[in-house]
Amino acid sequence: MQFFKKMKVQKNKLLKEYSTFKIGGKAKYFIEAKTFDEFKQAFLFAKENNLKIFVLGKGSNVLFDDSGFFGLVIYNNINFLRISKTKVYVGAGYSFPSLGVQTARRNLSGLEFAQGVPGSVGGAVFMNASSYFQTVSDTIKSVVYLSLDGEIKILRKDECSFEYRNSSFQKMKGAILSCVFLLKKDENAKNRQIEILQKKTRNQPMNEKNAGCIFKNPKNTSAKKLIDECFLKNYKIGGAYISDVHPNFIINEKEATSKDVLDLIAHIKTVVKKKKNINLVEEVKVISP
Ligand SMILES: Cc1cc2nc3c(=O)[nH]c(=O)nc-3n(C[C@H](O)[C@H](O)[C@H](O)COP(=O)(O)OP(=O)(O)OC[C@H]3O[C@@H](n4cnc5c(N)ncnc54)[C@H](O)[C@@H]3O)c2cc1C
Repeated sequence: MQFFKKMKVQKNKLLKEYSTFKIGGKAKYFIEAKTFDEFKQAFLFAKENNLKIFVLGKGSNVLFDDSGFFGLVIYNNINFLRISKTKVYVGAGYSFPSLGVQTARRNLSGLEFAQGVPGSVGGAVFMNASSYFQTVSDTIKSVVYLSLDGEIKILRKDECSFEYRNSSFQKMKGAILSCVFLLKKDENAKNRQIEILQKKTRNQPMNEKNAGCIFKNPKNTSAKKLIDECFLKNYKIGGAYISDVHPNFIINEKEATSKDVLDLIAHIKTVVKKKKNINLVEEVKVISP
């Protein structure tokens, strides 16, 4: 361990502990940033040491490599929540499921689905997460963003280029620090949330080690349906297999390696291309060392 401007810089931190897949080797350097200023300092540390950066939320949409990450992982733990009437101001490290629960509990509608998306608010914005006809981009108003050179910017929703599982942040190199959501008063929010979660737990392997949907849905069909129609359910490589509950999920059953998962991804793509003539595109972020 070393210190940089009073911040703890950890070395050789095991990334599998920070991923819902429970896969991944060690990060050469690791900083947990709890404030805007700590994020700025972390960027400075990377610059001074010529390190590449990876901004980590709750690790629910990433596949880390078994050989780790040879740069600086900054774990976002900016964790505040302020709700005023229908306006929600929230830190990007705040748990997205907790945000869903806290808002629905106050009869606020728009983020009921968040309870079943096990990421951070920043990760949900980056990915434009969605489920059961609700999407981050429906209710987001603005995003506070830190660019790599340490400049803080406020981006309005129309400056974020939200699309299905995409946002302008995926082409940028900085970090989402906080966001404002604008919700609607609705007495049915809590009931709707319960309904969504019940449907989700019936249709997805929520309690296994996985990273959610592996592929994006192609136009006019779903990856789940395509994989199912290619009879790939339960197909196994090493310690990883294709879920029979939801075939767009890969499960780490027995100490799977990143190679097991990558080989399984490659196999699915080959079979779906051959049988359906469709090129599946990964939704999960594969983080090379
Ligand atoms: C059981 C299960 C169910 C799921 N269900 C859904 C679902 O219904 N709908 C859905 O959309 N997704 C779903 N997912 C996928 C995942 O939860 C979402 O993509 C989530 O939004 C990722 O957030 P995260 O904080 O875990 O991001 P991470 O996995 O930590 O990171 C994902 C990407 O976002 C970037 N990132 C994260 N935080 C920041 C930040 N503050 N600034 C800049 N970049 C950042 C990372 O660099 C990385 O590229 C599911 C996953 C699981 C395991």
